[in-house]
Amino acid sequence: MATTIHHLNCVDIQSPGYGAAVGHCMLLEHTDRLVLIDTGTGLLDAARPDERMGRQLIELTGFRFDEQQTAKRQIEALGLDPGKVTDIVLSHLDPDHTGGLADFPQATVHVSEEEYEAFKHGNLRYLPAHLSHQPPIRTYAAVPDTWLGLEARRLDISLEPDLFLVPLFGHTAGHCGVVISTPGISIFYVGDAYYLREELRNPRHPVTNLARMRAENDNLRLDSLGKISKLIYENPALVIFGYHDPAEFAKFNQRKVL
Ligand SMILES: [Zn+2]
Repeated sequence: MATTIHHLNCVDIQSPGYGAAVGHCMLLEHTDRLVLIDTGTGLLDAARPDERMGRQLIELTGFRFDEQQTAKRQIEALGLDPGKVTDIVLSHLDPDHTGGLADFPQATVHVSEEEYEAFKHGNLRYLPAHLSHQPPIRTYAAVPDTWLGLEARRLDISLEPDLFLVPLFGHTAGHCGVVISTPGISIFYVGDAYYLREELRNPRHPVTNLARMRAENDNLRLDSLGKISKLIYENPALVIFGYHDPAEFAKFNQRKVL
């Protein structure tokens, strides 16, 4: 049964210091269900931004809100039923990835165990309000299995293609990339391991300062960048992109049938 991948930009950031950023979410469309990978900002964020996100975070980051940009409204615009989103995979739990969760209260949330533990222990970077609807949560701990040499935690979602969380720690305690794997094609979505792909080539890029400042553990962040660079070098045909890079979104923003 074919699965279609839709690329949705569900975040508008106009950062005062670092320019524009997107929120590159993916929607996997299968016959009877939808799976969302990261959620962007949600309807409640758009309706009550100050209450949900806080003025300070909004101004510091440069968030802008538009109901039509939420995953829920974009799914409706595709002629699909948001009620069919059964599962949501999160790279990590920063607010620009979790805002849309409440728009799919029925969906099971899949996240690394390390990330959920950090969230539960009250790290101030997270917004507990984004999970206050208490969605079902499935966490994934370390495994010995690998994908192209990287640890890969198979997600408990029965879907073609196979989905895996791949630890790329550093940005947050349990930040992971997501592998979408079929016999024919593999996509490696690296979340916020980098903000801009340019960081891989140019460690002095200005956005590196922001990445360093926002990193929970900067040494692990640099390790993760190294893993991605090695993977690209060894597998030049692999499709790799992150969450925030506008140029990558423009490049991959097309429907793809797997
Ligand atoms: Zn982010």
